[in-house]
Amino acid sequence: MLNKMFLLIAACCLILSSCGVSGSSAGNASSNAGQNQHAETNTGANDGAPNGGSNSNAEEDANQQLSEPGYHFDQAYRVIPNNEGADKKVVLLTFDDGPKEKEVLEQLLDTLDKHEAKAIFFVNGYHVQSNPDLLRLIHDRGQLIGNHSWDHIDLKQESADSARKQVEDVQKIVEETIGERPQFFRPPFGSSNETLHRITEDNDLTYITWSNDSMDWDPKFNNPESVVNNIMDQLHPGSNILMHELPWTAEALDELLTKIKSEGYGFVDPRMISHPAES
Ligand SMILES: [Zn+2]
Repeated sequence: MLNKMFLLIAACCLILSSCGVSGSSAGNASSNAGQNQHAETNTGANDGAPNGGSNSNAEEDANQQLSEPGYHFDQAYRVIPNNEGADKKVVLLTFDDGPKEKEVLEQLLDTLDKHEAKAIFFVNGYHVQSNPDLLRLIHDRGQLIGNHSWDHIDLKQESADSARKQVEDVQKIVEETIGERPQFFRPPFGSSNETLHRITEDNDLTYITWSNDSMDWDPKFNNPESVVNNIMDQLHPGSNILMHELPWTAEALDELLTKIKSEGYGFVDPRMISHPAES
């Protein structure tokens, strides 16, 4: 019975993906004004789903696909299912620049729990040093820690040695505090160069920026309504949503997650996103 259901769902997915749903995917907005420039906006070029279409052993394939739910990032840092049968309508939630304030953080964590959602908290080393208890809190509440450099500076402007220290000191302090090293790295301002990519590779870090910018960092949008609207305007399958540990974002989160769900999206657990060191 269950198998039949799975097959039906898988078959629907195959039909959908062969109907040319690809191309001009919705919401390649990332319309970043101001200092937050990053070159990695969506190209929309690599949207095609490789779909062999041979239906020998389709049954086995479908079962296998459904039993291996996993995701990866594409070149525009969207979250993409590894297998055709998996759900494309997912978003990744991320919160940068903490851990700073207990009340704001707890509000974020409570709302994530309410919606049974997991997120990546991209932390800065200098904040971890001041607030190790808050880092432990994020970890103990089942959320994932990412590396966002020690000082939140533009790493492209740094020497190779300095950039390396900015990354590796965070790996160290996080491991010392919670017993695990981060697996994901997001550079401040999305600013990067080849050296930084090499440093992250050396540390088994998956490098990402984002594909959906809440703009909560911009004073023009420092209110919950704007945070919700900005994200919903850019919502697309695999949205990698950039948010920050900020009071108006914490206030917006419950309504935001409710709206995302009502559009038929789920929240991807970052632990389900494959990591080069494991693949
Ligand atoms: Zn940041």
